[in-house]
Amino acid sequence: MPMGNHLGKVIYAILKFGEEGEILMKKWLRELFCKHEWEHKLRIEKFAVLSGDRFDVVCKKCGKVKGSYFREYNENGTGYI
Ligand SMILES: [Zn+2]
Repeated sequence: MPMGNHLGKVIYAILKFGEEGEILMKKWLRELFCKHEWEHKLRIEKFAVLSGDRFDVVCKKCGKVKGSYFREYNENGTGYI
């Protein structure tokens, strides 16, 4: 993401949300300067899916979420496909 765009978003958030915007700003800055270390975390869901597990890709350091993916179990349920 281009830097200018990011700062614009930050300024907008502060003007619009005040203190809350400041918290958001700190989060964005932390994400912006973080050398992300991605971790694949098993998502614990209320209603478990029987065919596999969902994983979230989350930064260990700043908590940014890159995305998620689904892994299907193999047919005997001993591991993933
Ligand atoms: Zn990070």
